[in-house]
Amino acid sequence: MLNIRHHIGLGELTTFGCSALAEHAVVVTNFQDLQEAVAFAHDKGLAMRVLGSGSNVLLTGDVSGLVIINHMHQRAECVDRRDVHIRFGSGENWHDAVTWTVHKGWSGMENLALIPGTVGAAPMQNIGAYGVEQASIFEELEAFHFDSGEIRKYVAADCDFGYRTSVFKRELRDKVMITSVTYRLSLDPKLVTSYRDVQEELAAMSIIEPTTLDIYNAVVSVRTRKLPDPRIIGNAGSFFMNPVITSEQASQLLEKHPTIPNYPQADGTVKVAAGWLIEQCGWKGARHGSCGVHDRQALVLVNHGGAVGSEVLELAENIQRSVADTFGITLVREVNVW
Ligand SMILES: Cc1cc2nc3c(=O)[nH]c(=O)nc-3n(C[C@H](O)[C@H](O)[C@H](O)COP(=O)(O)OP(=O)(O)OC[C@H]3O[C@@H](n4cnc5c(N)ncnc54)[C@H](O)[C@@H]3O)c2cc1C
Repeated sequence: MLNIRHHIGLGELTTFGCSALAEHAVVVTNFQDLQEAVAFAHDKGLAMRVLGSGSNVLLTGDVSGLVIINHMHQRAECVDRRDVHIRFGSGENWHDAVTWTVHKGWSGMENLALIPGTVGAAPMQNIGAYGVEQASIFEELEAFHFDSGEIRKYVAADCDFGYRTSVFKRELRDKVMITSVTYRLSLDPKLVTSYRDVQEELAAMSIIEPTTLDIYNAVVSVRTRKLPDPRIIGNAGSFFMNPVITSEQASQLLEKHPTIPNYPQADGTVKVAAGWLIEQCGWKGARHGSCGVHDRQALVLVNHGGAVGSEVLELAENIQRSVADTFGITLVREVNVW
């Protein structure tokens, strides 16, 4: 029998840690739970939202409707001559999944080590780090549609993956729950070492010909050193996306600000480091009531203790305004605001 709870605190279920209540919430561990939960919501006319590990959600007020907390676990692998196809239940912890595959000797997920969250949320914003996005290993997923009760299969072409986006973050937001994701990993490592941080870490480890495990260890080491740990200080990782601008805009900007870190993309656009823009506007380490900007990572907003979501949003808007005034660039939030 499904245990639907009412008016329960969600703050501790998110890494930012801002308090809010869910009108109704339920933990689902399998498909039958999910069907029952959705039937309950339909019966009461409630909207639904899925919560994974809460590492990319900012709570700004109580959440009406039903929050479906995803604990659907599963791992099933199928090995062919060169590849391994692994189907993960969407409630699997992402980093545990990465660690497991690396120790099996399978390659493809190692650059994405230590990203918090569930496997089911990974396609949502097409998570990425150190030169790799989950799209590069994605094979297919299954999503349960709340309105029709149908399970539909999505291959990469259906997902419209882009930089921190997909059809699940846009058109299908809060309309489906991703229930499983299948990744294709390689038995024959194709390592990505293009990122300077990874190269420097490997050099510091005196590794010249890295293995999949070496890359994993290097990424874990860099991330542990550079990123604020949500267990110590509340945060949701990068609060904003790195803006992508046209090459003409980039040339004009570089004329005025020659040191701006910029990364030309294959399609001719240019990605600009949002953290640098924020830092140049003087926000690094700034406090705004109980929240603030991290003192080492200007792209990360933090909860110093007891921050409320509206306060964090206010800070975010102040930052957006000052970056727009100084550089003429609009910063877009990466974090999902509830
Ligand atoms: C310290 C830190 C570092 C981070 N570093 C990175 C990084 O390097 N790269 C990166 O891309 N991200 C990064 N993130 C962001 C975050 O880890 C990812 O976005 C992650 O995929 C979120 O997973 P989650 O389970 O916590 O999702 P949640 O925060 O619970 O949910 C995020 C959104 O996805 C939706 N959602 C969740 N699960 C499902 C599902 N099964 N079906 C449908 N919708 C769903 C939710 O409704 C919500 O809108 C970081 C976050 C932190 C705190």
